[in-house]
Amino acid sequence: MAKSPEVKLAVFGRAGVGKSALVVRFLTRRFIWEYDPTLESTYRHQANIDDEVVTMDILDTAGQEDIQQKEGHVRWGDGFVIVYDITDRGSFEEVAPLRNLLEEVKKPKNVPLVLVGNKSDLDHVRQVGTEEGERLAAEMACAFYECSACANEGGTVAEAFHELCREVRRR
Ligand code: GDP
Ligand code: MG
Repeated sequence: MAKSPEVKLAVFGRAGVGKSALVVRFLTRRFIWEYDPTLESTYRHQANIDDEVVTMDILDTAGQEDIQQKEGHVRWGDGFVIVYDITDRGSFEEVAPLRNLLEEVKKPKNVPLVLVGNKSDLDHVRQVGTEEGERLAAEMACAFYECSACANEGGTVAEAFHELCREVRRR
């Protein structure tokens, strides 16, 4: 039997966008309200994706790293989740520079990536429109998900991680 594939996924985005909440939601199907914001963790997780067992190593970055640390994370990863917070325009504006860093460090490869707009439950204080996220994802030629680590309607969080695995496996 073929060895089950392993993919290394890193989660990027400004501190406070909900990276840890999303990762914990994906792994445990639970929402944890407070999570040490300075903590960086890796998790190992297996999932059945398209009838194949895939082992994921997931790096939940803190989002406060200096450039050397960030580059190290980019070199480590095979695929990337870039997260912004729909209620924080500044976090959306940090997406393009992060994408540029991926392209810079990984060139000449085009980098497997998904874009996630988190905290969709907070629609009443939204600062970034859904169509803006869609447009940015189209520019970056990647999949886009708006989701909520706390509500997670329709299992969108898992869908984003699974799609990223597929994207990595396609390369
Ligand atoms: P990180 O710094 O990107 O890892 O962000 P955290 O996962 O620590 O989350 C930062 C804050 O946002 C915490 O207070 C979370 O409870 C909150 N949060 C995370 N995801 C969501 C979400 O989907 N909806 C809402 N309303 N709050 C969230
Ligand atoms: Mg965190």
